[in-house]
Amino acid sequence: VLALDVGGTKLAAAVIDRAGNRISRGEVATPRILDGELLLARLVDLAREIVAAAGLQISELAGVGIGSAGPLDSVAGTISPVNIAAWRLYPLADQVAAELLADVEGFRRPVLAGDGLCFTLGEQRFGAGRGSTALLGMVVSTGIGGGLVLDGKLYAGPSGNAGHIGHIVVQPDGVPCPCGNRGCLERIASGPSMVAYALDQGWTPDAATVPDGVALAAAARAGNAAALSSFERAGEAIGRAIVLTATLVDIREVVIGGGMSATGELLFAPIRDAVQRHAVLAFTQGIEIRASELDRDAGLLGAAALAMDAADAAYRDAEQVNRP
Ligand SMILES: [Zn+2]
Repeated sequence: VLALDVGGTKLAAAVIDRAGNRISRGEVATPRILDGELLLARLVDLAREIVAAAGLQISELAGVGIGSAGPLDSVAGTISPVNIAAWRLYPLADQVAAELLADVEGFRRPVLAGDGLCFTLGEQRFGAGRGSTALLGMVVSTGIGGGLVLDGKLYAGPSGNAGHIGHIVVQPDGVPCPCGNRGCLERIASGPSMVAYALDQGWTPDAATVPDGVALAAAARAGNAAALSSFERAGEAIGRAIVLTATLVDIREVVIGGGMSATGELLFAPIRDAVQRHAVLAFTQGIEIRASELDRDAGLLGAAALAMDAADAAYRDAEQVNRP
């Protein structure tokens, strides 16, 4: 199958086989343009290059899966990524079909899902959450996204937006969030929010240092109190959000990826500590919290899994109809 991953920073594409092997893979920086058709052309060009690099024709693919930054409408097949101004209510699934698949007889429409859901499904099928039947996936990066696997299946919800854990309120009357609420998890524990808090608490990186998540982690490792307190605070907020989720839907595993998760125990230790303190009901205790195994490719692998499932379902339906 062909998997596409659409984000505000990069567009990625890969041809992926049943076992999760990436036969070919490539990515480009997301062009900062306002022309939606030009942006589509760039994505489709990348897709063609990657299919050719796998030594395949488009017509030989079993399907196409697309993971995209949200919000989106998975029923209408439209996306309106906050960080991609060129696309508002953009019918990406139909447009990719029209540009890439028009000449392919009987080709199914690409399957579309949010990037947090694709991350979670990728980890559940091929990564750190392999085989989990009750999994919360979280991406802690510029923002915070997520997704749920419940009863062994990805739970997308009627609009396709289930799992928006970054906008759970963990601090009533906290900092305003662009979503309209206050004290959302994302305003405390995303990379930029963590950096802003540390600066506010007196972290003063030298002039040559870009104050980002990597620099913040280095400062915390060097013992800087403001940087350490930002990690503690973020871990506490993420831990609370995990326990809230576990209380509501009984998850057993959590897989955390994204740039900030690469800081390792700096973030994971306070998360585990907070989960242990806040998980008071017996069924919420003993949740396993793991780092992503697939890193940057989790979204691609999840989009691929969606396309594989859709292909299998269509085949089974056709078998039913054809059986005498
Ligand atoms: Zn919010």
